Amino acid sequence: MSFKLYKLLCRTFTTSTRVPQVCIVGAGPAGFYAAMHLTKNLPQVKIDIIEKLPVPFGLIRYGVAPDHPEVKNVINQFTKVAQQPNVNFYGNITLGNDVKISQLRQYYDAVLLTYGAEEDRILGIENEDAKNVIAARSFVGWYNGLPSDKDLKIDLSGHTAAILGQGNVALDVARILLSSIEELKKTDITEYALNTLAESKVKELYLIGRRGPLQVAFTIKELREQIKLKNCKTIWREQDFVGVENAITNLQRPRKRLTELMVKSFKESQTQSNVGFDKYFKPIFFRSPRKFIVNEKKELTGIELTCNELQGETLEEKKSVPTDKIELLRCSLVFRSIGYRSVKADDELKFDSNGLVTNNRGIVENNTEDLAKMYVAGWLGTGPVGVILHTMGNAFQVAKVIVEDLKKDNNPHLKGGFEEVKKIILQNNYHVVDWKGWEKIDKYEIEQGKLKGKPREKVCSIEKMLEIAV
Ligand code: FAD
Ligand code: NAP
Repeated sequence: MSFKLYKLLCRTFTTSTRVPQVCIVGAGPAGFYAAMHLTKNLPQVKIDIIEKLPVPFGLIRYGVAPDHPEVKNVINQFTKVAQQPNVNFYGNITLGNDVKISQLRQYYDAVLLTYGAEEDRILGIENEDAKNVIAARSFVGWYNGLPSDKDLKIDLSGHTAAILGQGNVALDVARILLSSIEELKKTDITEYALNTLAESKVKELYLIGRRGPLQVAFTIKELREQIKLKNCKTIWREQDFVGVENAITNLQRPRKRLTELMVKSFKESQTQSNVGFDKYFKPIFFRSPRKFIVNEKKELTGIELTCNELQGETLEEKKSVPTDKIELLRCSLVFRSIGYRSVKADDELKFDSNGLVTNNRGIVENNTEDLAKMYVAGWLGTGPVGVILHTMGNAFQVAKVIVEDLKKDNNPHLKGGFEEVKKIILQNNYHVVDWKGWEKIDKYEIEQGKLKGKPREKVCSIEKMLEIAV
């Protein structure tokens, strides 16, 4: 008998209460933070975390930029959660394909969905499917070794590129494109991405926002990193900054400090010479993409931009309104970075008009009373915005609701839990990866990284992961 099972049985028999079983779908921050709260506040709970990939951590592994290792330290907390005897990780199980929500609700006392936002929003404009119009999400997945993005076709042979959107993902993409290879070499960026970026000819990168400097979605730390990049000059446009400095006094922190930094950088860019830099970062404002221009081979040659005006009362909520003026920006590569979106993994789920699973304080409307209650947390429930800290706050809140509900639950019947789910999964999928399997992959990646002087070299193929995890 395994130590985990022994401890669990002891717990089951030494307490008079039944062990509540919770299934969490998605091993990203929301899933782990919820598990953390549940184990602290409901010590007799048993938690199974089901994850689509053979490896845990969601966007911490596949989203957070490789040059931000300090952000990835939360993995240590999550590892402690997973190593508790009453928490299990089961990787390589996809909700919707391998198992249905109704089945989980049958075999658990509560089901928490934390499967994030895996797709990206599209613009819906002409030639969006042209070669070299790339989703920032795919580029991020590519440099971070996400198996589904490892074969992304990207042509970095052109001089000028543009990013549409001015959020932190856009700045991550910009920094990776404009950083020196020497800096990136020390990170856990995938080797194939490093080799491709080493050959990049991109010298000039536009960051295009539909609104103004007072409405940017990126934050100060990320902007500071960008404008401090070695051998890269940031060039702002004078016309975009009319009235911005005067508006600063009325701004609240943190936007005030962010705007002060932009104005300072704008003034410096005006006084410094533009000569002698390897690369140029060029934010431009009040422009929306109208259509992508392509040649006869459907290769990108530029973007037609509509010039916007702002309308509305409060500064941050001002909306961009198109004018009749149109501009052409010549470029051979564009990244669309206008936000992520969640997908409907199971027909049972209802999404609201904002693309979120309809929920009230994390409780998903439950019309089948005899099945377990269902909850949602993280980006799937809040929308694809917010840093890890926000996701943590939301996961704790929803987990608190689950604890309250489970404490009230008087159902005396013991549910089948993963033993039953396994029977369904084994019909199609023989490779469930448990925490020990992940530890083997982790060890392998760290060893491979050492050979190259990197913190890790990620395994990017599912088959290889499964081979190592056995
Ligand atoms: P996710 O992290 O996406 O986790 C969802 C998990 O569910 C994934 O493991 C996924 O594989 C799994 N899953 C998906 N579908 C299924 C399915 N059908 N069945 C089973 N499992 C499934 N925040 C910071 O604080 N600092 C940063 O530097 C930072 N960088 C970021 C960079 C990028 C590019 C992005 C997009 C976000 C970044 N964030 C950062 C925000 C942070 O990543 C999110 O707040 C957080 O990851 C959201 O957590 P989540 O658990 O809701 O979703
Ligand atoms: P985001 O912060 O919501 O930014 C999206 C950007 O796209 C905004 O500039 C938005 O402009 C623009 N946009 C949206 N629709 C558009 C359209 N139709 N046309 C033109 N522009 C459009 O999203 P994100 O960058 O994907 O980031 C997601 C979350 O992850 C954020 O909370 C972010 O802070 C977090 N994150 C954090 C880090 C970090 O901490 N280092 C790194 C990456 C991501 P409008 O404002 O005009 O809508």
